Amino acid sequence: MSKPTLMRTPREPRETRAGLEPLAVLPVFVPLQGKRAVLAGSGGGAPWKVKLLAAAGALVDVYAPEPSEELRAVPGEIVSGAVTLHERAWTPEDLWGAAFAIGAMEDERDCVAFVAAARAAGAIVNAVDRPHLCDVKFGAIVNRSPLVVGISTEGAAPVFGQTVRARVEGMLPRGFSAWVAAARDWREQVTARFHGFSDRRFFWERFTERAFAEPDREPGAADLADLLGDTEAAPRGGAVALVGAGPGDAELLTLKALRALRNADVILYDDLVAPAILDYARREARTMLVGKTGHGPSCRQDDINALMVQLARSGKQVVRLKSGDPLVFGRAGEEIEACRAAGIPVTVVPGVSAAQGAAATLGVSLTHRDAARRLQFVTGHDRRGQLPDDINWGALADPSVTTVVYMPKRTLRALLERAVAEGLAPATPALVVFNATRPNQASVRGSAADLADRIEASGLEGPAILMVGEALSEARAAALASEASARMAV
Ligand code: SAH
Repeated sequence: MSKPTLMRTPREPRETRAGLEPLAVLPVFVPLQGKRAVLAGSGGGAPWKVKLLAAAGALVDVYAPEPSEELRAVPGEIVSGAVTLHERAWTPEDLWGAAFAIGAMEDERDCVAFVAAARAAGAIVNAVDRPHLCDVKFGAIVNRSPLVVGISTEGAAPVFGQTVRARVEGMLPRGFSAWVAAARDWREQVTARFHGFSDRRFFWERFTERAFAEPDREPGAADLADLLGDTEAAPRGGAVALVGAGPGDAELLTLKALRALRNADVILYDDLVAPAILDYARREARTMLVGKTGHGPSCRQDDINALMVQLARSGKQVVRLKSGDPLVFGRAGEEIEACRAAGIPVTVVPGVSAAQGAAATLGVSLTHRDAARRLQFVTGHDRRGQLPDDINWGALADPSVTTVVYMPKRTLRALLERAVAEGLAPATPALVVFNATRPNQASVRGSAADLADRIEASGLEGPAILMVGEALSEARAAALASEASARMAV
């Protein structure tokens, strides 16, 4: 029998939907401008809640037989909405027409009755310090109205929530208020001027870039004119961007990659692209797995090319998202060629390749002056999934080279044995990094002579790269040091 070759069952590109993790609560935002709200009682939380309702523009009636000094002062302190203090107990009639009702009384039975009456009147109900009686709960707020951020830990960690709030405060310049207000004022004009989704999106993206670049400058008519002009002049029609997703850690995406993901109508991605990366896509974008794994079933390259071209022809912004860097063992050449042949504009956004991601997490220089004069990237696979016959063994055995082997898993033993037979010193440091830059990253270290056995014994899974060369001796030393300190720490 001939050697088994890698038989791939072709598979079809398939549309995927980003799953949504469970939500502890559903954040919703309640417009209260000009609506009636009722608060009954004068418990500790009452004054602040009244101010919140008034800040949201509500007309607040407060029923408190014995209001505290603080509560009494509220009507004089507010700058929006209106507050009327009634110095008496609430009655069910007081709730008619209320959009929002808050029970802030001390007596539990009174509160239960209030909540029932408020619900009967159709109001949204909250009860201070009584979560079991609440339809809705308040969170921490960052106010850049009309931009409003609500933060909840669902009661789990209020102090933690406050710290998050402080951080978000710091992230959002005060000037965002004016920018978001300008967006509200300009929206109608923009919508009337541009009918296509992608034009509008173009406008709003440029707008947002400006806001982030100069948050504390008041936007004005000149900004609107510029942005309208830029949008008129923007290129029309579909295009393809080959985008590097990096090895897994989403923070390794480039700003350009992020922009391309936010702009994309359709994203065609490989199995190796870490799921966390897709979270950066626009929610409305279609995502399609055009799975190409090393060994599992794959979509045919021709099908992927055809799909890419067809989507771009229909006017879509297509992102072809590839793990690592698109131009490193990514068959990008064929995809670029297919786009060019079809007259589709195509661009490439580079990414952090697996070798770089792995080296960074190991903290080793791949070109350490004393150990390496040359760095080479080699594939462990040929088209049939076997060790390529045309590897330059002399180059692999060179003592002053660092070699990084992509797709090494099936052929690792054969590759290292042959390299040693061709003159690579058996003691040369060698290691495999699995899942580089991902939370489950793991590495197995050894020498050219023993690494294959160690890998087999490790039982580790996932995308992996092999690195061989004297430059990696540092990584081994560092590993030993950290293992030793871990032992000491125990
Ligand atoms: N364009 C990619 C390489 C695609 S070839 C890049 O530049 O990284 C696919 C191979 O890349 C895998 O078989 C594996 O060898 C390597 N690879 C991709 N992501 C990896 C990761 N997170 N950790 C280790 N190796 C990875």
